[in-house]
Amino acid sequence: MFCKNCGNRLNPGEVFCSKCGARVEDGSSQNSTTEGYPVQDSKAGKNNTMAILSIVFGVLGFFVAGLICGILAICMSVSAKNHIKSFPEEKGENLATIGLIIGIIDVVVIVLYTIFA
Ligand SMILES: [Zn+2]
Repeated sequence: MFCKNCGNRLNPGEVFCSKCGARVEDGSSQNSTTEGYPVQDSKAGKNNTMAILSIVFGVLGFFVAGLICGILAICMSVSAKNHIKSFPEEKGENLATIGLIIGIIDVVVIVLYTIFA
């Protein structure tokens, strides 16, 4: 790239032009915004962590501490859904729904078990 001030050829990574001393405009940082795009893309394709956790806790609830895990699963899926509402580029709403359903099943099973056992 070249200095915008004097046209001197600049070495990559130079912050100031070696010829005129002008601060190098972010011609190369413009390129680094393209570097930023894949990051944003991977973020956009990323499943919401809370949504995944809600499923993990929901499934865990079938094996251990069903009520606690079930409630955790419900809380996390609700929080995941709220988060996804605020950040629509995040995925995982379906996962959060599954986590919610499993969490509810956990709680219902535990409650029924407590009543009838
Ligand atoms: Zn220059």
